[in-house]
Amino acid sequence: MSTESLTRSPLLPLKSAIEHMLQVCPKITQTEEVTIFDALNRVVAKNITSTLSVPPSDNSAMDGYAFYCEDSLPQGTDFLLSGQSLAGNPFAGKLTHDKCVRITTGAILPAPFNTVMMQENIDIQGDKIVLKQSVTAGNSVRRAGEDIRCGETVLSLGKRLMPADLALLASLGIDKVCVFRKPKVAIIATGDELVEAGTSLEPGQIYESNSVALHGLLSYQGADILHYGIVKDDPKLIEDTLIDASKSADIVLSCGGVSVGDADYVKQVLSDIGQINFWKVAIKPGKPFAFGNIGQAIFCGLPGNPVSSYVTFEKLVVPLLTHMSSVKQETKHHITASCSETLIKRPGRADFQRGIAFQDEDGAWWVKPNGKQGSGIMTSIANANCYILLEQQQGNVAKGTKVKIELF
Ligand code: AMP
Ligand code: MG
Repeated sequence: MSTESLTRSPLLPLKSAIEHMLQVCPKITQTEEVTIFDALNRVVAKNITSTLSVPPSDNSAMDGYAFYCEDSLPQGTDFLLSGQSLAGNPFAGKLTHDKCVRITTGAILPAPFNTVMMQENIDIQGDKIVLKQSVTAGNSVRRAGEDIRCGETVLSLGKRLMPADLALLASLGIDKVCVFRKPKVAIIATGDELVEAGTSLEPGQIYESNSVALHGLLSYQGADILHYGIVKDDPKLIEDTLIDASKSADIVLSCGGVSVGDADYVKQVLSDIGQINFWKVAIKPGKPFAFGNIGQAIFCGLPGNPVSSYVTFEKLVVPLLTHMSSVKQETKHHITASCSETLIKRPGRADFQRGIAFQDEDGAWWVKPNGKQGSGIMTSIANANCYILLEQQQGNVAKGTKVKIELF
């Protein structure tokens, strides 16, 4: 779809809006090397291969005795105890098939031994040990490379690094990792009525909260956040701030001022200083959404209503950031649940109702809307644990019907 026909279309399906944004959004190519302690939530820029096998040698999975076993050995077989192999202190001498060593968990299995019997299944008789049970070759042994083979790719380009990934790197002796530069995202809140939390309110004022939500959401996305604070509904101030932000940020995010009210200057300013597509995206909450660019920076104009700003960020800006940062698809936890109440929904826009999902005694999932669903009602998100996903053409949903939900 051309940009023009996208803009003309009365209500743009969410999928089309995302497709268009991804087509025009460049990917970050700059990379940097960071230590594994600074790499949480960063995105791997080059496949990482292991230069080691993990574990590096065959070792014992149990505290017990190690010996050689051709195939299997019956109960009552005995061996001469000839030393010990401890984790960190391997056995150094020569061994033969009639001998055994005491071995601890994680200790190297000395050649030519290939089998371990846990100590509970051993009788000690003088300088001999006797098997209390039969055993087969390879019992209680962790094989070299059974977790990771040398040369294997352990983390691929596009992987967002989680704590377990960082531990994995450390276990391979890797202390630094090449990651993509963080996307720089500017946040600008517009509105004459807005004041910062922590100050007192005059009549007609409200506390600014969208940039706080966006700060948290952007932190989850691993962005570098540039705050431009609250800007009054003044076209010149908005213009100056947007231009300033566009010089430092990959993405400029504004909230408020994109509707059709008298003080909604963002659209007008954007069409003077950049390219703008003003879309009515077919989602609820969050219909008005502006997308374009100011110079090299991508611009997203989120609606001012707090729930709309939150949901449009999650559903429109997150895919953009994921694309820009080369993050491989991050799976959302979608499950099916039955509605414990009727859901009110008019066909026409995909609805992201904020819900509370719960399981009954039999483990079946149920969901109910989390109170009032107005686009200004922040408690609907704050205390919810899921979105109830209702397709664009869906109407009211009867109690008991199964719906798709996305767990937070
Ligand atoms: P607007 O899109 O500017 O017309 O704003 C829509 C509604 O959202 C109005 O009630 C605004 O007061 C409110 N609003 C706009 N921006 C913010 C913000 N940053 N924090 C909290 N509420 C806001
Ligand atoms: Mg406003």
